[in-house]
Amino acid sequence: MKLYELTAYELSERLTSGEVSAAEVTEAYFERIESVEEKVAAYLELTQDVAMEQARQVDDWRAGGEQPGPLAGVPVAIKDVLCTRGIRTTCGSKMLKGFRPPYDATTVRRCRDAGMPMLGKTNMDEFAMGSSTENSAYKVTRNPWDLDRVPGGSSGGSAAAVAAGMAPIALGSDTGGSIRQPAALCGISGLKPTYGRVSRYGLVAYASSLDQVGPLARDVRDCALAMNVLAGRDQYDATSADVDVPDYVAALTGDVEGLRAGVPKELMGEGIDPAVRTTIEAAIGQFEELGMAIEEVEMPNLDHSLPVYYVIAPAEAASNLARYDGVRYGHRTEEDVSDVYDLFAKTRGEGFGPEVRLRIMLGTFALSAGYYDAYYLKAQKVRTLIKQDFDAAFEDHDVLLCPTSPTVAFGIGEKADDPLQMKLAHVCTIPVNLAGIPALSIPCGMVDAMPVGLQIMGRPFEEATIMRVGDAYQRATDYHRQRPEL
Ligand code: GLN
Repeated sequence: MKLYELTAYELSERLTSGEVSAAEVTEAYFERIESVEEKVAAYLELTQDVAMEQARQVDDWRAGGEQPGPLAGVPVAIKDVLCTRGIRTTCGSKMLKGFRPPYDATTVRRCRDAGMPMLGKTNMDEFAMGSSTENSAYKVTRNPWDLDRVPGGSSGGSAAAVAAGMAPIALGSDTGGSIRQPAALCGISGLKPTYGRVSRYGLVAYASSLDQVGPLARDVRDCALAMNVLAGRDQYDATSADVDVPDYVAALTGDVEGLRAGVPKELMGEGIDPAVRTTIEAAIGQFEELGMAIEEVEMPNLDHSLPVYYVIAPAEAASNLARYDGVRYGHRTEEDVSDVYDLFAKTRGEGFGPEVRLRIMLGTFALSAGYYDAYYLKAQKVRTLIKQDFDAAFEDHDVLLCPTSPTVAFGIGEKADDPLQMKLAHVCTIPVNLAGIPALSIPCGMVDAMPVGLQIMGRPFEEATIMRVGDAYQRATDYHRQRPEL
């Protein structure tokens, strides 16, 4: 086995025992990147000098008798939506071309403090708006399983990097499915934590009531290791929750006997590719064999998730993205301008791509006087009904199961001109963000030689339970061990 083929857990064992050094591991990753990045295009920026320095630091700690945490020396790739001090952070947008943040996002700092060498910044849909990474202003990332297909999005670079062996763990962000859907399409595991579980400080805001940072990795155990680093209250994020953080790795007992799972009817029916549905049903059968009780549940308000999301997310985005005005940082037009409004208009017209401009217009419309009640307020009310459907389902179910994505990865360009189809790619994941609950995607089979992802949703702050369920499945199956050939 090559070093880049090992899971983070396996790397951690070898690093702790002294079998390999952090510098060797990091070098192995850059060699792998050197050989396959040209085909996959997962990264926007590589930070080899920074990574090597961090790796040598970890080796020094260990040589000096220190016992750093289990991930010390295990490299990490960072989605370009997270601020990295002194290192370019573009959000996949021309608007932030060349922007070097003066501070680290809390999640980035936590990875640094844990001794995880930073490999680089990964490609993404501009400002995390999209489901295929095709909305990046810089490059098209390819799915390592089939280079003519998309890796999903918006964290497509992070997912493709892990799937291609170019990072053992990557950070992503998830507003409507942007960790889980690319994880599913690339055949890896990805977790969207409960809203408030992980700090959003330094995460460039898309829709603040929906955004969460989380890990993408080869398996659930690696997600648990990463969550031990990422989770917890942060004084710099007032919405981060002061809720005890369990040891997520210790929670992976392999025992799911007697747990009750619901399968929401609304997420298994119309719009789900029949072959994907069959694969999910087979996975559900596996959970039954593991001793879980399975039952169909009805959650009628879930049918409204997509329209509700596409009012709330653009409304919040329109407000958040108002800060890109060409005054303090980011792109500024070089055209002659007649006044400050002209400066804003030209700067924003040049800096933002078409999808982002569309979202800003939609959001501004939904919030404008006379329409606020009809759209934004109404959407908030229906959001509450969706949350209530989840509350009711979790009264007698520990977890809920459904597909992560209605289809396997589609072709590059295939849906680029069909905004509705593109948005439907997140139809199974969006309800989770609206309710603020945690959800995990794990690989559970192949259709058309492409990976299928199963979504496991849980009660607020019960990441440990959904990872226990996902890990139990991975102990019994080997879909998570399959790798694309590159
Ligand atoms: N596809 C959804 C959107 O474009 C979700 C993206 C995300 O989770 N960041 O808004």
